[in-house]
Amino acid sequence: MTSTVRTRIAPSPTGMLHLGTARTALFCWAFARHHGGRFILRIEDTDLERSTEEAVQVILDSMDWLGLDYDEGPIRQTERLARYREVIDQLLASGHAYRCYASREELDEMRAAQMARGEKPRYDGRWRPERAAGRTPPSGVAPVIRFRNPDAGEVAWNDLVKGPIAIANAELDDLVIARGDGVPTYNFAVVVDDIDMAITHVLRGDDHVNNTPRQINIYRAILGPGAELPRFGHLSMILGPDGQKLSKRHGAVSVLQYRDDGFLPEALFNYLARLGWSHGDDEKFSRAQLVEWFDLDHVNRAPAQYNLDKLLWLNGEYIKEADDGRLAHLARPRIERLGGCVAGPPLEAVCALLKPRARTLAELAEEAMLFYGPHAPDAALLAQHLAGASRAAVQAFAERAPTIDWSKAAIAALLKQLLGEFGIKMPALAVPLRVAVTGRTQTPSIDAVLELMGRDATLARLRASLGAH
Ligand code: GLU
Repeated sequence: MTSTVRTRIAPSPTGMLHLGTARTALFCWAFARHHGGRFILRIEDTDLERSTEEAVQVILDSMDWLGLDYDEGPIRQTERLARYREVIDQLLASGHAYRCYASREELDEMRAAQMARGEKPRYDGRWRPERAAGRTPPSGVAPVIRFRNPDAGEVAWNDLVKGPIAIANAELDDLVIARGDGVPTYNFAVVVDDIDMAITHVLRGDDHVNNTPRQINIYRAILGPGAELPRFGHLSMILGPDGQKLSKRHGAVSVLQYRDDGFLPEALFNYLARLGWSHGDDEKFSRAQLVEWFDLDHVNRAPAQYNLDKLLWLNGEYIKEADDGRLAHLARPRIERLGGCVAGPPLEAVCALLKPRARTLAELAEEAMLFYGPHAPDAALLAQHLAGASRAAVQAFAERAPTIDWSKAAIAALLKQLLGEFGIKMPALAVPLRVAVTGRTQTPSIDAVLELMGRDATLARLRASLGAH
């Protein structure tokens, strides 16, 4: 590629950062990084009623959490209003745009009449200069500015994902590019921005395919007919498991919700990279590998399907290899929120023990409650498990525990010895011991759990449980 690749993500700050937008951002990021180019964040906040500062912050936090670092921005469209006005004036002067005074009622009537005639509703060009000539604009009406779309010919581009696309200009009407208050609309501002920011590749969701021919016409009006345009690539959408467009119905769709639900950013990052792009059969790969491998040839034309089980699996894989200190740091507030008190066994060691089985940080914290939660085994469970030979063996374990070296190996040796003495199998001792000490029938290997729990806490818990039953 001759010129430096420049891509951008241009979210509107009207709520959360949706998984689909995050996936687009990730593809733009990876494409720029792969080509040694630049990735830009632009906040499309010209919808003044729906845009909020909190939503801007959510975008920044989501990008930051996912590690989608940008080289320029955040650039806000509301900071560029003077520039849009300048280009509007240029288009008015060159005859590519004109003022339209049609009222809402008039436009509604026009559309109703078109539909009654079985036509597609579209603006009929009634304020095009040649048709409005001699007419006095109504007083007190702030006109919108419309782009004068070419009437003939077609707009074509070779989409980087979907291949060649062509639309007849006859299908396109004269779009409003600035509202009565002078604020530009999306299709216009996006073109001015992409020109000014020298964007070379516009990658975005395929809900924008229909906007692209309109934007291409605006590019040509601004830059001249022969100007070089960016390349466009429209990413197929993400579907839920039911084949419908991914939405809140399918669970979390906000990036920060995944953070709150206990996903690691590198797991969501990796997962999003695979939603619509592939590198052979590779499911788990690093950021560096993505940057090395990413290309648009392997972006899928067909929609990608969201699969929570796969994401949970991937998250579990990343938790397994995560540093114990980092996991402890992430798990601590969760344990505290569950009412646990992190005292006694070191949290790092607890995370090391539990991480092979946790698919999320929430599961990790929940499991860690076995060490940090109150000791309150269910009475019926105790009665069920602390009976007969099992009870006698647990009692014998409590009696001999003070005499052994408190290590995993010594605990395991004592357990084995007791199995022989009481003529029982491992589950008949390990499960009652688990229930008595942790209140749970399932834990990681009991010798490891007891070693971490510590001798004093183990004995105190055993005595309490045996005393209760
Ligand atoms: N603000 C638009 C959106 O969020 C940007 C689309 C584009 O990338 O051009 O959908």
